[in-house]
Amino acid sequence: MPLLVMKFGGTSVGGTAAIQAVAAITEAQRAIWGRVVLVVSAMSGVTDMLIRGATTAATGDQRTFRDLEHALREKHATVLAGLVPDGDERAAVGAQVMQLIDEFGVLCHSVAVLGEASPRAHDAISSLGERMSARIVAAALRARGIPAEALDATEFVVTTPHFGDARPVQDLTRDRTRARLLPLLDQGVVPVVTGFIGATESGATTTLGRGGSDYSGAIVGAALDADEVAIYTDVDGVMTTDPRLAPDARVIPVLSYSEMGELAYFGAKVLHPRTIRPVVERGTPLRIRNTFNPSHPGTLVVRDVEANGQAVKAVTAIRAMSLVTVEGRGMIGVPGVAARTFGAVASAGANVLMISQASSEQSICFVVPSSTVPEVTHALEQGLAAELARRDIDRIWAREEVAIVTAVGAGMRDTPGVAAQVFGVLAAHHINVIAIAQGSSECAISIVVAASECDESVRAIHGLTAGL
Ligand code: ADP
Ligand code: ASP
Ligand code: MG
Repeated sequence: MPLLVMKFGGTSVGGTAAIQAVAAITEAQRAIWGRVVLVVSAMSGVTDMLIRGATTAATGDQRTFRDLEHALREKHATVLAGLVPDGDERAAVGAQVMQLIDEFGVLCHSVAVLGEASPRAHDAISSLGERMSARIVAAALRARGIPAEALDATEFVVTTPHFGDARPVQDLTRDRTRARLLPLLDQGVVPVVTGFIGATESGATTTLGRGGSDYSGAIVGAALDADEVAIYTDVDGVMTTDPRLAPDARVIPVLSYSEMGELAYFGAKVLHPRTIRPVVERGTPLRIRNTFNPSHPGTLVVRDVEANGQAVKAVTAIRAMSLVTVEGRGMIGVPGVAARTFGAVASAGANVLMISQASSEQSICFVVPSSTVPEVTHALEQGLAAELARRDIDRIWAREEVAIVTAVGAGMRDTPGVAAQVFGVLAAHHINVIAIAQGSSECAISIVVAASECDESVRAIHGLTAGL
């Protein structure tokens, strides 16, 4: 029997009406596919509240997390009451949710006493939102007559111990997910799985990074050999750009995995950047759809997409970036400088989003999140101390406040002059291009611009997507 994995994001489970919409979609899709699995995010705003509880507690503040605890009780109890009639079921699920909020209070209290939130404590706290929402969504399905069971992914999504940014351990996850979920599916039960979280082999709770429930959907889908993974969110699909930036953004009907990968990597918040990986290996179709407009077909993401004559399909931006430059005449032809440069950056724990080297080889430029600049500069000064002393390297400097704007479209590979068009529209808007890079997949061109010119750059390049 075919199997559909559906992931519902924070707004999709953000209130009574939204969860009712989720239940209606589940009922309809179950009738079509036979077997469905749900993966859910925390109610919107909840993960932020949990993290705020942890960070304020770490400063010794005993007050804020108590206020948050109260607000979390109210929020979840109200939604549950709107979905499940008064009775034993509501009391039982309510008690489970309140117990999770008790856990929040206890964990934050110990963080406040210690005056520090370890990455492990941080994950234990931020995982609670999904554990609450999964229980409420499963109860809402049962209230509608659909057999459903809430499951904590900590039972079967086995991850590395990188708290806050864990990766799945593939074989163990596959075996355990199948062992836990397939029997339920055989009994006609809809498993409602927590997104965002997993656990190490020794059982410590981990999280997959902010927005990671999309990734959970793909991990579970791949483990179960699902026929499709549907990501339900609050827009009709992947759009030509962030609709908040350009009101004339349009839904893109079909994208390739590599186009979607570039869009997500370069800032399209609609999908967590790692989501593509598990589905690519099996060629599982991925669909992005709207919980609040379920008849819209959304965006289908598949391996191969026929060219439609459109070179630039979409444009994205990532803000709060800095361009770091390592500059010096003595770098010419000296082997290993680049390796040591990036070794130093890696040792600072920074993620390099883009690299561009001038043809003269007199400088290496790369873009890192602005928050990591102090560590990166320090690591570079240490790692390249000998070159700096010899004056082979003259200068290491960071230009704060830049943004990466990326134009995406597989058609760029075969269409000459796309880069010229992109630079042409930027020039026409008097936007200064600071650096350029083309991704190895050849379906993206990234441009560094001043942060103050980011939105205008996006809108200017967005004009090239018109006429689809
Ligand atoms: P969810 O909680 O469902 O995971 P997110 O807020 O994480 O939802 O992602 C959906 C949001 O992504 C949309 O509301 C939209 O504002 C934003 N977004 C950014 N870029 C794009 C894009 N290219 N296409 C669609 N949505 C985008
Ligand atoms: N709840 C988590 C977050 O807010 C994961 C997700 O929603 O995808 O980051
Ligand atoms: Mg999201």
